[in-house]
Amino acid sequence: MTRRVALIGKPLRRRHSEVMHNAAFAAAGIDARYELLELEPDAVEAAVGAVRGAEWLGLQVTAPYKRLVAGLCDEVEPAAETIGAVNSVLRTAGGQLVGFNTDAPGFRAAVELAMGRPLAGTDIVVAGAGGAAHAVVFACLDAGARRVTIGNRTVASAEALARRFGEIGGGSISAVALDGPLFVDALGTADLAVNATTVGMLDPGATIDVAQLRAEATVFDLVYVPPETALLRAARARGLRAANGSEMLIQQAAIAFERWTGLAGMADVMRRAASPLLSDPTVAA
Ligand code: NAP
Repeated sequence: MTRRVALIGKPLRRRHSEVMHNAAFAAAGIDARYELLELEPDAVEAAVGAVRGAEWLGLQVTAPYKRLVAGLCDEVEPAAETIGAVNSVLRTAGGQLVGFNTDAPGFRAAVELAMGRPLAGTDIVVAGAGGAAHAVVFACLDAGARRVTIGNRTVASAEALARRFGEIGGGSISAVALDGPLFVDALGTADLAVNATTVGMLDPGATIDVAQLRAEATVFDLVYVPPETALLRAARARGLRAANGSEMLIQQAAIAFERWTGLAGMADVMRRAASPLLSDPTVAA
């Protein structure tokens, strides 16, 4: 029996996940395929329910269904519950659906590679308070960051995020306006500045003024289409460590793959498979 995994969302414009997972299944000699399933909202519940069937290994979930799917699982792991988003689902041997989140550990693995050090004890600025920022801020606090400053265009969303995550880890958390003086102050002491907004992908420009950062700071942009945003160009021009979101995408995929198959260490295979897409300037945002 060919086992199945599907990515559900709407719209599904990108093939990176399909390419990475199918390359990993082929490299591991596992008879399984990863497919893209663009669904209307009223079709999600039935599609998730079908994953209890024996041919399924699990699911991946993207916008706008990460919250909805959490409510359709038999169990949601605590980190995914706290983040408020399920981006992956495991079908257990007994046919139960367990929701989990790989964006947070994928971000942590990728950003620690980019920084060349652990997140523990660091001072972090995050631009954005949407779905991705929830995973990023959770990962930073859970990893033992000393201070996290969230800057968002809509300050109320940053404040809600800070309230929600106030008890995680031992670090402090604050919410400020993205275009205000407190955001600029926080950049001046940051070890890491993260863009977790869609700016650079859907909107031109950059959320972070790299001139405010220390020479030792790392800039991490979650955007990976286009491969180099204005933020990353400016950071590199200043000689800062800088990385886009491609490694986060790869690391989160490898974490999900390990949960479905028990096989670790597939990030290299996935990176090689995704590389043409990740460097293709014609891939649409
Ligand atoms: P989202 O939930 O829609 O949140 C969008 C965020 O961007 C909000 O904070 C929003 O601020 C902000 N924003 C949008 N337009 C803005 C503008 N013109 N100026 C300032 N802020 C603006 O999106 P998301 O799911 O969090 O995704 C954010 C980015 O992360 C996307 O580019 C996505 O592709 C990327 N991502 C990458 C990975 C990866 O593996 N590399 C994983 C997940 C997401 P307001 O609250 O004020 O609207």
